[in-house]
Parts: sequence; structure tokens; C-alpha cells
Amino acid sequence: MHYEPTLEFARAQDAADPLRKFRERFHFPSLGTDELVYFTGHSLGLQPKSLRAAVELELDEWAKYGVEGHFHSTNPWYSYHERLTPPMAAIVGAQESEVVCMNSLTTNIHLLFVSFYRPTKERYKIIAEAKMFPSDRYLLETQARFHGFEPDDAIVEVQPREGERVVLEEDILAAIESHADELALVFFGGVNYFTGQLFDMQRLTRAAHDAGAVAGFDLAHAAGNVPLALHDWNVDFAAWCSYKYLNAGPGNVGAIFVHERHGKRFELPRFGGWWGHDKATRFQMESGFRPMEGAEGWQLSNAPILGMAATKASLDLFAEAGMPGLREKSEKLTGYLEYTVDALADEFPDARISIITPRDPARRGCQISMDVAGRERRLFDDMVAAGVIADFREPCIIRMAPVPLYNSFEDVHVFGRLLRTLLAGGGA
Ligand SMILES: *Cc1c(COP(=O)(O)O)cnc(C)c1O
Repeated sequence: MHYEPTLEFARAQDAADPLRKFRERFHFPSLGTDELVYFTGHSLGLQPKSLRAAVELELDEWAKYGVEGHFHSTNPWYSYHERLTPPMAAIVGAQESEVVCMNSLTTNIHLLFVSFYRPTKERYKIIAEAKMFPSDRYLLETQARFHGFEPDDAIVEVQPREGERVVLEEDILAAIESHADELALVFFGGVNYFTGQLFDMQRLTRAAHDAGAVAGFDLAHAAGNVPLALHDWNVDFAAWCSYKYLNAGPGNVGAIFVHERHGKRFELPRFGGWWGHDKATRFQMESGFRPMEGAEGWQLSNAPILGMAATKASLDLFAEAGMPGLREKSEKLTGYLEYTVDALADEFPDARISIITPRDPARRGCQISMDVAGRERRLFDDMVAAGVIADFREPCIIRMAPVPLYNSFEDVHVFGRLLRTLLAGGGA
């Protein structure tokens, strides 16, 4: 696509954007600056304006019905989570029986590991990405130890090659092959949180299966960001959160995927709770756990309705916008941010700005991570003071997400103008 640095160009793109109206349906923070560019949807998505009424409705129903709300409120709480399943399944390319919203992300991965990380003395290794999100690293370490293995031995991190910023997929496949005899699990982020690299999950899944291992994914940075087809890709299991690209609110309820072919494997080891128990006999309160079919059989607790109401309101926006349209805009918008950063890198060589996110739009979501080696943390702090809300990671990486649901081409233009002023040393 052809880009221009001007405000006119950015505004013309926005005027032609079929999704432009969604921006008005979000609350944008005002942090005391004249202009604000919110590029942090990768950490906490903005609040949909429809969310408050959805939560208030459930508060009203609770006030009105008390416990009777489980069965008599407008959207009975007993089966409330089921209303979230169709829009969530559509976002990740799954059948409805393969998805359920519950708990939060790290908790869910641990629960899924109970069923899908079944190491033996011969097969116990986990192949994972370098620079993985710290929670995932702690999760893998403690899982390895829990099963009696040394993390350094059990976890194989595939690193980028010398001088490279992202991992080559060939190298992941080679690692899977070379560890084939001792491999229990391939566990990757769908999109790496640090670099924004999007992995070919179908290819990794196939390679894991060829090696006799299981394939699972943490989709925290992929769900609501990139097109997913978990069912068709034959992924064994996945989990993600709802508060990043899915905009359901801080720490809100997560979701899991368990492939249909595992959905009736009632013999799989798992931790049980009443909400995962066969619905027909759930309230007989007898001993003898009988899991439900499908992903719902991994539930433990009754649904947190206030959080679920917020999630539902947010998912409705995705159902309305549709992932194909969002992806189309995402590629253009991210390309525009890439173009803007590249132009500044050329103009200010002393700042030593470089993009570490893959250049190929097919290998990334709506994220640009830039290394600002020449200016370090100072530049980031100045950016925030000037009204650009992004994210800083050591040593000197600034991660930005132009989110297609609510960011605009004008946002990218304003970002470019503010950053240019800072780089030129003129303050903001
Ligand atoms: C955001 C994120 C998490 C956070 O986990 P919680 O359990 O929701 O706190 C975990 N893993 C990855 C890859 C993430 O991006």
C-alpha cells in the first residue's frame, strides 16, 4: 500500500474506513494532555461505552431477584457463560463445543496442563519461544518441577539466530525434530508479546503431532488481533485473556479452547469442580465427578456474572465488526505505523531506531515494537508526557499497538508528529 506522511492522507484513509464508527463506541482516557494517542491495546483494551449498561443490568437484576436471578433474570446466570461462547468461538475459529469462558489466563493454562502435559521419564520436554511472557515462563518452570523435572532440562527455548530479533520458523521445526523422542509438548504464544511475531500455528501443530507431542498455545496477544482457525489447524488446546485486544476490562475472565477430538475423552486427567460436572446431575450433589462434553468439562466454578456481562458487551462489538474486516484494516494501519517509524529512523539516525517486529504483514498482528537504542528510556518517558500511551520493555523497546477497532490513521499521524518533535529535541 502507498502511504503519505500528511494529515490529509491520514484523514482521507479514516474517511474511507468502513470501521471508523467503532472508535466512537469506546471511552478514550484523557490524561491531561491536549492530544492523546492510545497504542496500548496490547496490554489493556479500551472500555466499550456499551459495557457499563451491561454490567448495570446484572447489578439491577441481582438487586431485584437475589438468588432467583440464577434462573429468573433476563439472562439467567445459571447458563450465562453459554451466551459468550458463540462470539468467542468465532474470534478464535473454533466450534462452540470447543470453547468456554472461565477463570483467568495463567490459571487456565495450568488447568489445561493437568490434561495435556503428561510427561514421562522419556518424554517430558516442552519446546517454547524465547522471550516468552514472564507468567508463561514461571508456569513452565513450576509445571516442570511439579512433575519432578529440572526446568533447564525440560524447557527448550528456541532462540533467534545471532544478530536476529525474531525466531525463524525453520529453527522451531528443527528443534521439534531434533527433540522428537523426548518431546511432550510444543507450547508457544500465538503472537509473541515482545516482538509481535505471529507464528504459523498450523505448521507448529503439525510438526508437534508428527513428533508424537501435543500442541498448545497462549493466545493472549492473538485473540481479537489476528485471524485464527484453531479447529481446522488441529490445535490441541489454547487459552487467552479478554482484557487485551478483547477489551473486556482489567483482569477480566479468560477463555479456553480444547479441540473436539479431546472433548469426549472423559478419561483425561483433570481437576474437577461442580460447573464442569454433567449438567443434568449437577444439583444432585452426589459423589462421582462426571465431566461435561467439550471445553465446558474443564470448568470449575460458577460464572462471575459481572465480568461476564462486560465480556459479552465487548464481544458483541467483535461480532458486529467481524474479524476479516478488522484484519484488513489492521494490516493497513500497522503498515502506516511502520512507514511512520521508518521515516523517523531515517531522519534521526543518532536515535538508532529500528523495528524488531517482522516486516511481513502475514507474520505479525497490529503491533510495532521499536528499538530506540540511541535514546533509551528517556524517549519513552517523553512520549508519555507528550500524550503517546505505549509500553516500554527493557532494554529499550517501545511496543505499540494500533488497534483497528478504535485507532485511526490520524492517531498514527499524530504519533509521528509528536515523536518527530521529541527527536528534534524541541520538547512536545
Ligand atoms: C498478558 C499475558 C498473560 C497474563 O496472564 P494473566 O493470568 O491474565 O495475568 C500471560 N501470558 C501472556 C503471553 C500474556 O501476554
